[in-house]
Amino acid sequence: MMNRLNAFFKSLLLIELLKGMALTGRYLFARKITVQFPEERTPMSPRFRGLHALRRYPNGEERCIACKLCEAVCPALAITIDMEERADGTRRTTRYDIDLTKCIFCGFCEESCPVDSIVETRIFDYHGEKRGDLNYNKAMLLAVGDKHEEQIARDKAADAPYR
Ligand code: SF4
Ligand code: SF4
Repeated sequence: MMNRLNAFFKSLLLIELLKGMALTGRYLFARKITVQFPEERTPMSPRFRGLHALRRYPNGEERCIACKLCEAVCPALAITIDMEERADGTRRTTRYDIDLTKCIFCGFCEESCPVDSIVETRIFDYHGEKRGDLNYNKAMLLAVGDKHEEQIARDKAADAPYR
């Protein structure tokens, strides 16, 4: 009986509504935490695992020596590499594809690379509009690396003391 009376007076006096409005009022003047993406971005770890990139040395030479460790370690079988030997005996890839629809962004490829060639960048706002757009080939990965090398190098340097 008491419960029913309680419920009656609560609904009569609009208690729940007032409680809700009080909550709204409290947040009306609180500091806003909404981020206006993409103009504003939240802080990111230097270890963030986003879009992949292939890096070059400062002289423009590709870092990748086609050892295929990244291809072997990839649990999603997302990496496909073909290679050839140059006249000077060095090895370079003729094909380096990553199927980003298979990738689970585990970072194993980056961890396994002996020359810091394949890395995962801070880029997460990329997309594909048609089938195959997210199948990144060597030229695309090198282009990402060329464009973001400064940030990649900074992130590698920041992480170096912990490795
Ligand atoms: S991040 Fe992981 S799943 Fe993605 S390509 Fe690298 S090793 Fe494969
Ligand atoms: S990216 Fe690194 S691990 Fe992968 S084939 Fe090239 S050198 Fe080897």
